[in-house]
Amino acid sequence: MAKTFKYVILGGGVSAGYAAREFAKQGVKPGELAIISKEAVAPYERPALSKAYLFPESPARLPGFHVCVGSGGEKLLPEWYSEKGIELILSTEIVKADLAAKSLTSAGGETFNYEILLIATGSTVIRLSDFGVKGADAKNIFYLREVDDADKLYEAIKAKKNGKAVVVGGGYIGLELSAVLRLNNLDVTMVYPEPWCMPRLFTSGIAAFYEGYYAKKGVNIIKGTVAVGFTTNSDGEVKEVQLKDGRVLEADIVVVGVGGRPQTALFKGQVEEDKGGIKTDAFFKSSVPNVYAVGDVATFPLKLYNELRRVEHVDHSRKSAEQAVKAIKASEEGKTVEEYDYLPYFYSRSFELSWQFYGDNVGDTVLFGDSSPDSPKPKFGSYWIKDGKVVGAFLESGTPEENQAIAKVARVQPPVQNVDQLATEGLSFASKI
Ligand code: FAD
Repeated sequence: MAKTFKYVILGGGVSAGYAAREFAKQGVKPGELAIISKEAVAPYERPALSKAYLFPESPARLPGFHVCVGSGGEKLLPEWYSEKGIELILSTEIVKADLAAKSLTSAGGETFNYEILLIATGSTVIRLSDFGVKGADAKNIFYLREVDDADKLYEAIKAKKNGKAVVVGGGYIGLELSAVLRLNNLDVTMVYPEPWCMPRLFTSGIAAFYEGYYAKKGVNIIKGTVAVGFTTNSDGEVKEVQLKDGRVLEADIVVVGVGGRPQTALFKGQVEEDKGGIKTDAFFKSSVPNVYAVGDVATFPLKLYNELRRVEHVDHSRKSAEQAVKAIKASEEGKTVEEYDYLPYFYSRSFELSWQFYGDNVGDTVLFGDSSPDSPKPKFGSYWIKDGKVVGAFLESGTPEENQAIAKVARVQPPVQNVDQLATEGLSFASKI
């Protein structure tokens, strides 16, 4: 028999949790709202998986990091949903969505009908087997997206004590995982094709600090080449990583972090798409009436830059979810809410390091502060300058006030007369704004 809800959130990740909290705040009646998730657990703060979840000592575990604890809010335990009469339909994968009929079908054959659908299916990892890399399905080659993946990696870390790990990919997942594997005392080698790590955000100056710091922590870095194949032992476990440049690395564990892809396949041909995501307006409403899309899957108007963008960061997943729910509830009362006016924000943490970035990383750059990896207390940042204005700011090891200051700079976009002076002023430029 079909189950019917007024509101269905498809996906049980970060956006789903923050949307549920907003629904509760705005008022939903018991039985009106359901979250349908492939995962077996209530929504949690996904960034923990590549950080504290894998710590050798006192690792983070659920229920410790359910949403909305990551942004300083109250933790939404599974009981919270039942108290509010919000149905958590877990371990349920939706395999068919019929947006015209307003119905979803699960792998188990159940049907769910809705009046309003909030698509929050997030991203899936890109796999090396997608490119036909030889041996990429060997045991102990891991990807990290969901808590189940993190559990498998954690078990392997314990089983391969003091072993060798190869991390494929030099993005933030590769950097965070290399750090945490090193903390677990594995011999870690990172491999990536680009000339420096995190090239989508980091300038060569920023990257030089992290590469130097990681080297000091004992992480080996091999740049400018890619993994083209894996060999296995008689148990089918990965044994070696073959690189394109001919080198061969021994490995007990391989972790791959080569990017993600928004999960929109269920809706192909039914809803307008753009830039790889579901196209929405400033209220996260899609081209189909009563269907909203939030988080990693949404391509939305980024007002500040007057451009459609898709953003795969946790802060946006939280805020877009809240915006969509506010817009849904307002429209029911014939009201409207303000347009989404997002300032891109992204952060990462590894070892004793912690950085934040706000704004847009386009135009010229200046590096300021102490970015020596040998410094006992490194603290540095970068500004991005476009059309004579500061449009982006990065800061390593900032205090909360300093991080607020760089956020303000990126929002206000103050003019810059003299770039050399900006480099000398450094953080004090931001603090004056
Ligand atoms: P998700 O949180 O991915 O949730 C999607 C949910 O939908 C999942 O529960 C999934 O199982 C479910 N789902 C998908 N398809 C179906 C289906 N067909 N049926 C049922 N359920 C389905 N961002 C930062 O800014 N800083 C960080 O430090 C950071 N660290 C990260 C570390 C890791 C390991 C990962 C994977 C991501 C990290 N991110 C970070 C990115 C951030 O977590 C995502 O941008 C955010 O989780 C997106 O939220 P979402 O709700 O759109 O998707």
